[in-house]
Amino acid sequence: MVEKKLNVVEQIISLCARRGVIFPTAEAYGSLAGFFDYGPIGVELKRNVEAAWWKHFVTLREDVVGLDGSLITNPRVWKASGHVDSFTDPLVDCKKCKARYRADQLIEDELKLSVDGISPKALEELIKKHKLVCPKDKGELTEVRVFNLMFATQVGVIENPDSKVYLRPETAQSIFAAFKSVHPVARKKLPYGIAQIGKMFRNEIAPRNFVFRAREFDAAELEYFIHPDKLNVCSLFSKEHGNFKAFFYTAEMQEKGKKQEEFTVSELLEKKVIGTQWHAYWLVECMKFLTEIIGIRKENLRFRQHVKTELSHYSSETWDIDYNYPWGWKELQGIANRGNYDLTQHSKFSSADFSVFDEETKSKVVPVVIEPSMGLGRLIFTAILDSFYQKEEKGEVRNLLRLSPILSPVKVAVFPLMKKDGLAEKAREVFELLRDSGFAVEYDESGSIGKRYARQDEIGTPICITIDYDSLEKSDATIRDRDTGEQQRVKMAKLVDKCRELLH
Ligand SMILES: [Zn+2]
Repeated sequence: MVEKKLNVVEQIISLCARRGVIFPTAEAYGSLAGFFDYGPIGVELKRNVEAAWWKHFVTLREDVVGLDGSLITNPRVWKASGHVDSFTDPLVDCKKCKARYRADQLIEDELKLSVDGISPKALEELIKKHKLVCPKDKGELTEVRVFNLMFATQVGVIENPDSKVYLRPETAQSIFAAFKSVHPVARKKLPYGIAQIGKMFRNEIAPRNFVFRAREFDAAELEYFIHPDKLNVCSLFSKEHGNFKAFFYTAEMQEKGKKQEEFTVSELLEKKVIGTQWHAYWLVECMKFLTEIIGIRKENLRFRQHVKTELSHYSSETWDIDYNYPWGWKELQGIANRGNYDLTQHSKFSSADFSVFDEETKSKVVPVVIEPSMGLGRLIFTAILDSFYQKEEKGEVRNLLRLSPILSPVKVAVFPLMKKDGLAEKAREVFELLRDSGFAVEYDESGSIGKRYARQDEIGTPICITIDYDSLEKSDATIRDRDTGEQQRVKMAKLVDKCRELLH
């Protein structure tokens, strides 16, 4: 079963390359592990995902403003945030063939153990205890060493220790370091958020699973600032949030070796498993975005609480939204309570005061932060994986992406049945009408009609319109539904409205 599922991943990677969605960078030069290009279809898909996220978490909300931070910033930001000293992964080398491994991944692969968040020393003990060797040539492994994941570069022409800077390893610090500049101009009172979509860079020892673990990627992130005494006073928390049901895998269930279970959010809030009402609110909002807007099936998602050993140094409580990937349940999104760690650190390391004046209590407070954060490449890949179907047609296996229409790179494709007899001209008229009405539309007259349908199915185009001989006589067109393959004839005059209706 797992093999069959992994085979699906191979087919998706092949589809992504063949249709210009995502492919390894600079393939002519043998590419570069962990770096990817988005092709003509992929870039549209990515822009659609970004637009959907921005609309949902920024535009439609009164309590969130945006930021676009620089990729390189003052290196003291990374000293304050703890990245210079502790943003590391454990690594081991093979003494024989010099192959390099992430120690935790090697242990997971070889021993089928989950070792998330375990210390380098504990990893070393596991390697010794189980006499692990290099999987390639059984060579002896070095001791576990830690390796900083930040990409360093320099500012200015002369290389010296003072000119060393880093490509940002997370987007969050751009928001925290800019908080003093944003707060006075945002004209918001607590609680409110600052959102950002942007690039980040992590020098992963072993990038793998396609874009799932890349070295350069975009994150969509929201830092939501709350009065430290009001984490349980969420005016936006409705009955709907409380009654929201999902699969939860709490820290306690993991520690006791139990399986995930369905709960309502209220049940877990009452038991204080979810620590605060604001955290619960954002858990629900994030899950709703993934299922209702992006269209990922809810049965493939769950909330998993971080166990104590894997909590980041800044976090008191973190929940992941996991997706059921072919290689197991893994994080798609994280929703962390970062406390006031970051703003406090920046107050300490800079000469500035990062607190906020609270009108109600007439006192200064350092806000606490709840942070929903997600890698966009991972989200795009997950949306593709979740919408990937195969169907048999005339003895051939056909691929189909049942993408939510708002994500589809092409919304409508227009074909003439043949190029001749005025069909092409009529089809181009329809194409122009739809394009001028604001649809992302593609005109295609090459190859058999079956091939043209197949191409659009593979990139998730919801609607294909065909102009045939009847169309010329009756002034209508055939609309074909991607998911059912069903066709209906629609009058030209109603075509635009019909497309709007179907894409809604
Ligand atoms: Zn080796």
